[in-house]
Amino acid sequence: MANAVVRTRFAPSPTGIMHIGNLRSALYEYLIARVAGGHFILRIEDTDRERIVDGAVEAIYNTLQTCGLQHDEGPDIGGPFGPYIQSERLPTYRRYAIELVEQGDAYPCFCSIERLASLHEEQVGEAFIGYDRHCRDIDPADAAARIEAGESYVIRQKMPLDGETSFTDAVYGTIIVDNKTLEDQVLIKSDGYPTYNFANVVDDQLMGITHVVRGSEYLSSTPKYNLLYEAFGWEIPVYVHLPLIVGEDGRKLSKRHGATSFDELIDAGYLPEAIINMIAFLGWSPGNTTRENFTLEELESAFTISGINKAPAVFSYKKLNWMNEQYIKNLPDDKWCAMVKEKADPLFEEKPYDATMLAHVLKERTTRLSDIPETIAFMVETPTYTRDLFTLKRAKLNAEKAAVILDALITDMQMLPSWDESSLHDLFELAIVTQSRKKGEIMGAVRLALSGKTITPGGAIELAVILGRDESLSRIKNALTFLNESDVVSEPV
Ligand code: GLU
Repeated sequence: MANAVVRTRFAPSPTGIMHIGNLRSALYEYLIARVAGGHFILRIEDTDRERIVDGAVEAIYNTLQTCGLQHDEGPDIGGPFGPYIQSERLPTYRRYAIELVEQGDAYPCFCSIERLASLHEEQVGEAFIGYDRHCRDIDPADAAARIEAGESYVIRQKMPLDGETSFTDAVYGTIIVDNKTLEDQVLIKSDGYPTYNFANVVDDQLMGITHVVRGSEYLSSTPKYNLLYEAFGWEIPVYVHLPLIVGEDGRKLSKRHGATSFDELIDAGYLPEAIINMIAFLGWSPGNTTRENFTLEELESAFTISGINKAPAVFSYKKLNWMNEQYIKNLPDDKWCAMVKEKADPLFEEKPYDATMLAHVLKERTTRLSDIPETIAFMVETPTYTRDLFTLKRAKLNAEKAAVILDALITDMQMLPSWDESSLHDLFELAIVTQSRKKGEIMGAVRLALSGKTITPGGAIELAVILGRDESLSRIKNALTFLNESDVVSEPV
């Protein structure tokens, strides 16, 4: 296999949403293929008909596309080894299962569901050793006659009764299992569908897969796959099992920790690029650098199988937040502005606002897109003022001073010919001189009047530009009215 073109596959079962673990498998498979100039194949494993969930296949396509993990062959684009949907390959699996029966490596089993259930019950309390091989030695002619007569059956794989099976995994090393622990697993179910375990091996072989990459939960089934490869006389692919993903408490990542699927992370306001970068580091590190910011394109040349570690990989939302901030800062302005507009437009409704300035102000200050509505809510709500609000110790500002400052400013602001950043800047600079005030006092008073908040994204000029002339002047007037009226009321007579 050393000289073969590298071929990896993402083989999801359409049984639900795309979890972080699935996406990591897809990403690593994609990268292993790209680094080697090989092929990345998408195969839909839909043989477990009862577990299929509507919309799951679409979610798989959308996620891969959004993340830029473009496959080279797959159900939607075809390829030389199709069909790439397992339910369309049933005759193939049957053919290979019959081949195994004929060569004595598999057998039809006629045991009823009731018998299997009672076997299960008998074994409760003891270690479950699985199916008792009741039909393993039925005479092939008798079995053929029973099938002919229409009896329901499954096809089971004959496991060796003694000895050991070993295999080498690129991440976990050599693993040896006692064959006595291996159940005679079902290959073809009574409904004619193959089991996942069987179809997966047959397809990996027929599709020329060189590297089988998947979560470590499949490690324990790998000896069975190995025995199938051996029974067929097929070359065993390179196994690359990926470490468990855990939360910061060391427990398996689950809902309890937060968003665990791609869609949930997107809804929570993370960029696909940041998610992909984060996921790349769930079990892999580049080795020669501590750098953690890698775009997909950079990963396509930096990724190595030897950099995959078997220690559980910690999914840290704190780290994802940090990564998202970096990706937001690096977004082209027009792309970022469109994202901000998507969040802000529904809030501003018909009210005019300067989206470019809003995007500029938020770029260095946003952790997650979903935080934007809350951050900018004050821009669409009517500010409520208190006298305390205007007490800025550091700028030596208080309510009385703010009233004087705003009063002196308002006429000039109303007459400002052009309401833009540089005109507002000049106006405030002039006010600093004419009012003999510090910059912090002037800007502070305006910012508080415009926002009604002590902490705001952006300063006085930026907020004035975002809100526009009419809204800004109306807010300053309201603040002045409040300051003047509350002054009278609060003064002792
Ligand atoms: N259909 C399996 C799953 O979705 C694929 C496992 C594998 O990659 O072999 O988990």
